[in-house]
This record gives sequence, C-alpha cells and structure tokens, in this order.
Amino acid sequence: MKQLIFDSDFKNLIARPLNWTNSVEIPANVQKYIQNISNSTVIYDENLKKYYCPLCLKELNKDNCCPKCLKKYNIRGNNANKVWWEIDNIKDLKYENFYSYFDVLDGEVILYIVHEDISYNSPYISIPYRISKLKINNAFHILNKGIVDLINNKYYSYEEINNKVKKDEDSFEYSLVGDYIFNNYLYTDNLEELKNTIYRYTKIWEAKNYLKKNYVGILDLIYTPIYFKGFEYLMNLKFYTLAFNKAYLINYEDKVKQLFKDQDYVKFMIKNKFKYNDLEAALICKTYDKDLLKFMTYSIERLKKIINMTNINIKKLKDYFAKNKYKNYLLIEYYDYIRFASTLGLNLKDKNILFPKDLLAEHNKLQLEFQILKEPNMASKIEELANKLAINTYEDEKYIIKAAPTLESLIDESRQQDNCVRTYCKAYSNNELQIYLMRQRKDVNKSFVTIEVRNGKVVQARCKYNKLPNENIKNVLKKFEGALKIVD
Ligand SMILES: [Zn+2]
Repeated sequence: MKQLIFDSDFKNLIARPLNWTNSVEIPANVQKYIQNISNSTVIYDENLKKYYCPLCLKELNKDNCCPKCLKKYNIRGNNANKVWWEIDNIKDLKYENFYSYFDVLDGEVILYIVHEDISYNSPYISIPYRISKLKINNAFHILNKGIVDLINNKYYSYEEINNKVKKDEDSFEYSLVGDYIFNNYLYTDNLEELKNTIYRYTKIWEAKNYLKKNYVGILDLIYTPIYFKGFEYLMNLKFYTLAFNKAYLINYEDKVKQLFKDQDYVKFMIKNKFKYNDLEAALICKTYDKDLLKFMTYSIERLKKIINMTNINIKKLKDYFAKNKYKNYLLIEYYDYIRFASTLGLNLKDKNILFPKDLLAEHNKLQLEFQILKEPNMASKIEELANKLAINTYEDEKYIIKAAPTLESLIDESRQQDNCVRTYCKAYSNNELQIYLMRQRKDVNKSFVTIEVRNGKVVQARCKYNKLPNENIKNVLKKFEGALKIVD
C-alpha cells in the first residue's frame, strides 16, 4: 500500500508507504539529546516559586543541588519546566516537552517534531519512577513553494500560510501542529547538513549557538527561512532574536525600511534582543528608552487599539502610569476603560478622561454603565437571583460564603482578584451558573476566593490571579458544596 504525495515542484505525484510514521525511529543521537535535556530540566512550581529535581522530585537546595541524588542543576533560561500545581498536593504529576530535528534525505528536508510525555509512577515513594514517552508528533517535508504535512498528507503553500498567519498566527500554528508549543527545543548538531538543501541560502547553521539556548517556534523553522524575504538579511546582521521570533509577521512597509536604515538603532535592537513585539513597539514609537519599550510590549495589540481610538501620546501615557505607580499589566484595564468611555460617548480628547485620577474606580464606574447600557435588566436580575440564593449562604468561625449580591460586587470582585469573573455577569444574571464570594470574617470586604457553581457543584474556585486554593480551603468548599440547594 502506497500513499501519494506531490513532488517538490508540486507538479507530479510521488508515492511513499502508508503508515510510515510507525516505522520512523527517532535517531539514537537525537534520543540521547532529548534525554539529556529532559533529565536536566528542573520542575518549577509557579505557586510556591520552588525548584525540584526532575528525577527525585526533591526541592533543590540553595546551590541548586538535589539533596537526594546530588545532581547540580542550572535553573536559568529555558532550564525549568513550569508547573502550576503544588508538588506535594498532586497525585499525578505530568508535563510535556517538544523537540524538533531536521532530517536530510537525498537533499530533501524533513522537520520532525517529537512530543515527550513525562509522568511519575508515584511521587510519594522515596524514589519516584520517572517515565518519559516519546512519539513523533509531526513531520513536515519542506519544499520550494510550500510544505507537506506527511502525517496527514496535507499540502500548504507558503502563500496560503502567509495569508493565514497574517490573520492569526497562533491559531494557524496550532492547527498545523495540533498543539500549542511553548517550549520547542531544536536539535542543532546536524544543522550543517542543510548546506546542500533548500536551506542553502538561509545559513541557519550559523545561528547554532543561539538555537541551542533558545526555544524556537515551528513556523520560524519551516516557513520564515524559506519564504520570508528579510530572513537572510537578519541572519547577516546576526539578528537571531528577530529572525527566529515571528519575523514572518514583518511587513515591508516604509516604516520598517526607515527603522532599518538607522544603523545605530539597528545596533540597539540587536543588542537588546528585539523580538517581533519589540519591533512593533519601535514602529509605534522609535525610542532608546527601554522602560518605554517594555511598557509598549506588555500588550501591543491593545496599545494599537488604544492609539486608534484616542491618538494618545505614548510617552504621556507611560508618564501617567509612572506617576500613579500603576504596573504595566493595568494597561489591560486602561484599554477596557477607553473602550467603555468610547462606547459611552465620552470625549476622548479631554485630558481628564484620558488620564483619570483613579483609573480603577473610573474603570469600574464606566464598566457598570457599559453593562447596563448593553443589558438594562442585568443588574436587577442579579439582585433577584442573589436574594433567592441566600439560602445557600455558608458561615463558620473563619469564613463566610454567599452569592454575589449585585453586578457591582461582581465587577469589584473581578478587579480585586484580577480574574475574569466579570465575563460571567450575563450567565449569572440568567442563572446558568452562580457566583459565590468566599470572604474571611476578619476582613469581609476583601476578596478571598471566587467560586463558580453549576448544577449544584463547585466547578471553579480561584484566589487572586487565578491561583488555586489550598487544601484547607478546599475542605471548606466541600462542606459548602454538600449543602448547596439548586434554585430555579
Ligand atoms: Zn535528584
């Protein structure tokens, strides 16, 4: 049985055996490379900010050594796998990595992506048994005018890819690979083999040291080098951070050309490791001020929309944030604020509107008006429902849990907790779900845990910044859940 694919000119069909991926073996040197990375990548608990030995699951000591196996780890750069759970609490610790490697066969280039699944038989016994499963996730045959997904036998022309990534780069990469890849390592020991292939002008082997130390996206390997016209230019400059970070999104417009004509600024960009986002920031405002660049890149998409709506001076906005000691992430709230103000017809040329004295208070005020404008009945529906849900109020000596009483309370909770409970406003007002607020008796006005209930079950409970509650709180939640009554 043979499967048909197109040749490199996309004119003739050529055959290859069906189900060939089952017979493709990951080369021994690549396997060794994967094992080496996998075994030396520590586990980082983002909640507790602690590092663990991936082999023994013991917390590393001050010298980044494992107290059990004594292995010393380097925890900088890419050498940590982030996990969200507390190591002690989880029964099944699992995480994954991606690796890719080029294979050159008769001058043809294939990029393989390997998926590694890591699990432990039991994190509780003294020597956990670590299981690493490897499988070839994707194989892409790279041709002159496009790529062939060898596993699904699908062809994508570079033009088609270009149109798709310009619309939404992330969703295309996801549809191509079938997974969000945040941490892809490239095997670099055989890059020189690409010299006599379609990659001959790309010189990507010259970036070997960079690629060894940095994650690299899939499209940055199979699409940018072949199709993006500026790639060789960036490689000649040794501007690797940009060449391998979504350079394909760069449009050859006058502003970009202008930026690259300024040699001092090009040096500045290379020295400061500009990626595509930084370049976009520089296109909005060409500056040597690193703080201003950082401010702009926090959410460049929102910033662009803010500029579209207001014509605001970025430096003034940055000064406003600095003066009020607002952190960069408040740019998200600022964007929402401007959006509400615009919808409500406020004068966005007025300095008092552009730079309110208390951003969050104004944001909440306008959001309330905005919600009421969109759904005039929402506020009263929430209050009615909350009255009925009062039968589910839970109290013990330390905690009180009760249904969010008003639309305002939801908005306030969402601001205090920095979570997205406000998006549930409508569903809550229609009783599709219920939002309860858990508070500590010692400070009942301060947000503590936000609880989402559906069909009488707690489906989500989040502390500030969407963190998960600890065991103690979970036990209280179980009691609360046990007594829940469903209200129609
Ligand atoms: Zn160890």
